[in-house]
Amino acid sequence: MNHYPFELQPLPYSYDALEPYIDRETMMLHHDRHLQTYVDKLNEALAPYPRYHSWSLPRLLTQLPLLPPSIRLPVKRNGGGVYNHNLYFRTMSPQKTAPSDALARTINASFGSMDGLYAAMKDAGTSLFGSGYAYLVRERRGGRDQLRILMLPNQDTPLPLGVCPLLPLDVWEHAYYLKHHNLRADYIDNWFHVINWEAVSDLYALC
Ligand code: MN
Repeated sequence: MNHYPFELQPLPYSYDALEPYIDRETMMLHHDRHLQTYVDKLNEALAPYPRYHSWSLPRLLTQLPLLPPSIRLPVKRNGGGVYNHNLYFRTMSPQKTAPSDALARTINASFGSMDGLYAAMKDAGTSLFGSGYAYLVRERRGGRDQLRILMLPNQDTPLPLGVCPLLPLDVWEHAYYLKHHNLRADYIDNWFHVINWEAVSDLYALC
């Protein structure tokens, strides 16, 4: 359901489907525990305010200033956690995929090549201090149509920035610590193997 009460969206593949790149235990904890906690805390924050029970998650996150001050931060953090993780899990796949022609052209125009995109994503993901995301987004404004990589702290989402979210790289330690310990760069290299470019191409087409 895309409004209160929010539910845990099932993983679109099995826990071990992304092995050897992302291990089963990390996927179980990340999805069943971390994401479930964000879902529960988001519902908890919204429960006393029926007025917002029909609001979609993107609406809640885009219109945070309209919410009662006491729930703005919990909705930002936990709603962001739900949004970012749903997109993170959905944009990974055990299948080998490739970007659509339209997306591939824009990647080449924005980053020179796929390798250029990977290098920029890795640079953003490794240089982000603390917890957060490197986020591939499509920006269309003032006659410009380009892809950009944002560095977003905590569970911030690109939604309030008026850009279209395409591909989040979760660099919270919970995304990689069990397998890669402190080696975030190794996790990012592994994540490149499991990006679901079909899902990203679909999002790109809808932007
Ligand atoms: Mn996470």
